[in-house]
Amino acid sequence: MARYTGPVCRLCRREKMKLFLKGAKCDTMKCPIERRPYPPGEHGRTQLRRKDSEYLVQLREKQKARRIYGLMEKQFRNLYQEANRQKGVTGENLLRMLELRLDNVVFRAGWGASRSQSRQLVRHGHIKVNGRRVTIPSYTMRKGEVVELGERAKAMIVIRHNLDTLDRQVPPWLEGDPQSASVTVRDVPLREHIDVPVREQLIVELYSK
Ligand code: SF4
Repeated sequence: MARYTGPVCRLCRREKMKLFLKGAKCDTMKCPIERRPYPPGEHGRTQLRRKDSEYLVQLREKQKARRIYGLMEKQFRNLYQEANRQKGVTGENLLRMLELRLDNVVFRAGWGASRSQSRQLVRHGHIKVNGRRVTIPSYTMRKGEVVELGERAKAMIVIRHNLDTLDRQVPPWLEGDPQSASVTVRDVPLREHIDVPVREQLIVELYSK
């Protein structure tokens, strides 16, 4: 599946907020949002004075969610359609499915500094699900499944560094076991346990047009 390979900080500047796409740099003064908190491009500053239309607000909310989780448009829309088919609130279903992606679980476990780095760990075969190697970042985790680091990954400097420096708290729907370098999906995540700054209802309104 394709992925975005262009400049990453530009995406945050477009949304006029930190999306934390780069790991450690995001918490330093090197973050471009600290110095240039306006959209990129020649007319970036003037956009701050513009009154956004209803459509634009919905579009930006969808783009924000898509960029946080690193999905391309087609993949995101397919996920929305599946969320719409499920019982319950469509927006919450969508966020839940995004959270249950394997690359996101690796990120939540604190093994990857960013979702893109977590995705790379999965693609390179460093992650096991229920004891078997899985290399598909979009793999949807189910309740009770166990994600663990492969043998080589346990000794990787980048993972050790992330665990030592990031100090990321595992969300309540995951249960971490530092001894075996594994996390278990205790339950499907509830909306209040998903801390992404996205108003999912606006995404539903956009796609329902
Ligand atoms: Fe976004 Fe991080 Fe870049 Fe800042 S450093 S603009 S938060 S990706």
